[in-house]
Parts: sequence; structure tokens; C-alpha cells
Amino acid sequence: MHRGKDPKKGFVILRSVERKTTARILDGTDLARRLREEARAQAADLPGPPPGLRVILVGGDPASEAYVSSKTKAMREAGLRAETIRLPADAAPQALLGEIDRANQSAEIDGILVQLPLPPGHDPRRIFDALDPRKDVDGFHPENVGLLHQGRPGFVPCTPAGILALLDDYAIPIAGRRAVVIGRSEIVGKPVAALLTARDATVTLCHSKTRDLPAICREAEIVVAAIGRAGLVTEEFVREGATVIDVGINRLTDIDALPPHLRTRERLRQAIKERGKVLVGDVDFDRVAAVAGWITPVPGGVGPLTVAMLLKNTVRAARLRASRGAGPL
Ligand code: NDP
Repeated sequence: MHRGKDPKKGFVILRSVERKTTARILDGTDLARRLREEARAQAADLPGPPPGLRVILVGGDPASEAYVSSKTKAMREAGLRAETIRLPADAAPQALLGEIDRANQSAEIDGILVQLPLPPGHDPRRIFDALDPRKDVDGFHPENVGLLHQGRPGFVPCTPAGILALLDDYAIPIAGRRAVVIGRSEIVGKPVAALLTARDATVTLCHSKTRDLPAICREAEIVVAAIGRAGLVTEEFVREGATVIDVGINRLTDIDALPPHLRTRERLRQAIKERGKVLVGDVDFDRVAAVAGWITPVPGGVGPLTVAMLLKNTVRAARLRASRGAGPL
């Protein structure tokens, strides 16, 4: 692979040496930096203490710990407040609901984030229902979900909002385009499909029971992969010139955990050998970059935007609260 700057447009070009075709990179890191700066400036304009986020983390899942730490660090770097409440993995659902109630009532807190996934025994829907929708900066409360599907969004889930922001940043046309979203989770697939629909794309939402997935994907001008299966989307899923958004974050520590078609990739083998782990998206980047027009890398694509959108949503929650007048809700 060769990376270089396009002298005209300034974005990074990736060339596949094997196939001599090019996909342009959708750089989430750069957009995320600008969004964080915007959030910082908006927060600084608000009266009173900086906007505050309370994260509730149940259990010590290492990936969740890493996500929470990067979110709270980004908040503080942007001049916002962030604190984490930790509950043990065996905490009763009632204990978690109690923490949510305290955060709902607190005049110090603008946004609440319950880190997912929750350990077994917790029903995420019951947890989302308990959030004050005005502090639901992850956009999972049914009121915010309903508003999104009506096309008049309240708080929009961070990853889907980041994907739309990235498409807009690169002026990728959406209206009238065919889009395929693979994955129908409440946190990524469904809200992405709703946002693309609201922007007049013609959207097909696919999942594990979808028949002939590659053929459906090949019809799309925009493909969003939110599956959680390393490298599932190969070049046979992608029509030439399509925009491919890879949401997947698959942390692999063993070469044998990679699907067979990725096991021979020197870059991945080397990463596991040197660092004991590798991050792989749901898209087979090397092969898809040879046919796509635009593609997000993993890491450096959607991931940083999720964090940036959390900052934006928290600042928005604080602004809304300021406009209602300070004090408990
Ligand atoms: P879920 O496990 O909740 O949902 C996965 C979806 O993929 C389901 O709808 C499932 O179908 C579908 N699916 C599974 N296997 C297949 C298959 N073989 N063919 C077609 N569809 C399939 O995952 P999430 O939505 O939470 O996350 C998806 C990925 O995105 C993960 O890798 C996650 O780590 C990553 N992620 C990244 C974020 C970021 O900031 N970049 C944020 C959030 C998630 P069905 O409904 O039928 O089971």
C-alpha cells in the first residue's frame, strides 16, 4: 500500500499496489479533531461550570475500560467535566437504576452514558427507559429513538451521527443514492438507516438472515458495515466507486481468530506478532480499497467520531439546560 497527499484536494490517497486502483480515505481523525474543537468553543461560551458527563461502568471489561477512558480523557481535554461511577460486574439491576436516578436528579450533570455492553442480568432497554431523555447523550431513550425515526432528531446516537458528519465533510452525496446498512442493532445499524432515510437515501437494512448479502450490497453507492465480523465485507460486496463505511472494531489476539482470507496478510500477522493484538474492521480493507471510491480505515475512521459526537451531545445537553434555566430538572 502507498499513502500520499492528493495535491488538489488535500486528502490522503491510498493506492493498492496489487491492483493499481485507488480508494480515497475518509479521515475520521481529522474531522473528530475539528468537532472536538467546536465543542470546546461552544462549552466555553456557556455560563456556569463546564458541561458535565457522568459515565456509569458496570464490570471491568477491558475494552469497555479503554472506551470509557478515551471518552473521559477527550472530554477533559476539551475543557468539559467527566466522571466515572464504577459498579461491580455482579451489581444488581436495582443498583444501576439507583445510579441512573441519582444522575437524573443531579444539577451538576448534563449528560449520562451507561457504557455497553452490560454484564448478563441487565436488560439494556430497562436501563435506557430509566434515563432522563434530556440527559440521554447516547440517544438510546425511546423518546430520542422515536424522534429520530420521525425525522426530527433529539439526541442522535454518537456513532451514527459521526458517520453522517463524515459523509457530509467529504461532500459524499446522500439524497437519491442507494445505501445498504449491514447490521440492525439499536446503537448503530437502525439509527444509521434512519438518518440516511431522513436524508433521502434509498436504504436497505441487512442482517444475519439476509439472503445473498453480496448481491444486495453491490447495488449500493454507500455501504455501512456494522456487523462485528472481521473482514466479512470483501470486494464482491462492493460496486466500483462506492463509498464504504467500516464501523466494525474487532480486537484479535490470535491469528487463527482471523477469518481464513485474512490469515495470510503480512500486516496483520506482523501486528499480532509484535503487539500481541490487532484491530480489524468488518471490511477487508486491502481488497475493498481496490474497488471502492471512498473508504474509512480502522482505526482512524468512525471510532474517533463516536467520541467527538459524545462531546457535541454533552455540550448540547448543557446548552438546552441553560436555556431552560439552571437547577434540578
Ligand atoms: P451487534 O452485535 O449488536 O449487531 C450486529 C449486527 O450484525 C446484527 O444486526 C446482526 O444480525 C448482524 N450480523 C451478524 N452477522 C452477520 C452476517 N454474517 N451477515 C449479515 N449481518 C450479520 O453489533 P453492534 O451494532 O453493536 O456493533 C457492530 C460493530 O461495530 C462491532 O464490531 C462493534 O465493535 C462496532 N462498533 C463500533 C463503534 C465505533 O465507534 N466505531 C461503536 C459501536 C460499535 P442479527 O440482527 O440478525 O443478529
